[in-house]
Amino acid sequence: MSKQPILEIRDLEVFYGPIKALKNINITVYEGQVVALLGANGAGKTTTLRTLSGIIRPTNGQIIFEGKRIDKLAPEKITSNGISQSPEGRQIFGDLTVEENLKIGAYIVKSKKTLNDNFEKVYNYFPVLKERRNQVASTLSGGEQQMLAIGRALMNNPKVLLLDEPSLGLAPLLVKEILQIVNNIAKDGVTVVIVEQNAAQTLKIADYAYVLEVGNISKEGEGHNLANDSTLAEAYLGTV
Ligand code: ATP
Repeated sequence: MSKQPILEIRDLEVFYGPIKALKNINITVYEGQVVALLGANGAGKTTTLRTLSGIIRPTNGQIIFEGKRIDKLAPEKITSNGISQSPEGRQIFGDLTVEENLKIGAYIVKSKKTLNDNFEKVYNYFPVLKERRNQVASTLSGGEQQMLAIGRALMNNPKVLLLDEPSLGLAPLLVKEILQIVNNIAKDGVTVVIVEQNAAQTLKIADYAYVLEVGNISKEGEGHNLANDSTLAEAYLGTV
């Protein structure tokens, strides 16, 4: 691809106190791609996403979004530049309704028309959220809560959507459904960086994927190539 990347992570290093969680991470993402971060528990996937969204500060390295460094910006500034995260464990507000949760997601949206357009967009991807818009979020099923978490991140009209384990705790059929919707979101032009344990399903929608191993990238490649990689199959795909 000859275009400039929308997002680049260069030589990223992150410490938690004395522990080096990310040693040397290099990731390149092009507009409209689905890029997957795979790997075992503790490999550093969530840390990478949280550093991208500004919640964690890197010790070394750079994060470049649309040609400009963002690694020293506050999380709100990164969001207003166009990067939204749906966090691991969903973190929705259980006492609030679906609609109220979505509205909170739209905190950088100023115009009423954009707000309404964004509600429509989210309800198009997830019709069940429209049906349940007045329902308190804690009473939604696990899958619906996950949809709400993704929908909430979409309410800011992001250029890049960061998803942390959207399939966590969901039945296989629902995993497939959610990943298909994620794929549709990317086809509509939103770039997606997705962290997943469910490598086999994720590689079906990923244009490109990185495998993390204790803070380093041990393997990378196009989704369909990694899906056929026998060493990866043994470690992560559960097919051997
Ligand atoms: P999982 O799939 O289990 O979420 P992960 O690949 O997302 O794993 P991270 O959560 O990024 O991994 O963790 C990377 C490493 O950093 C792990 O060794 C973890 O124990 C450590 N770590 C994560 N968060 C903290 C923290 N707040 N303080 C100290 N160490 C942390």
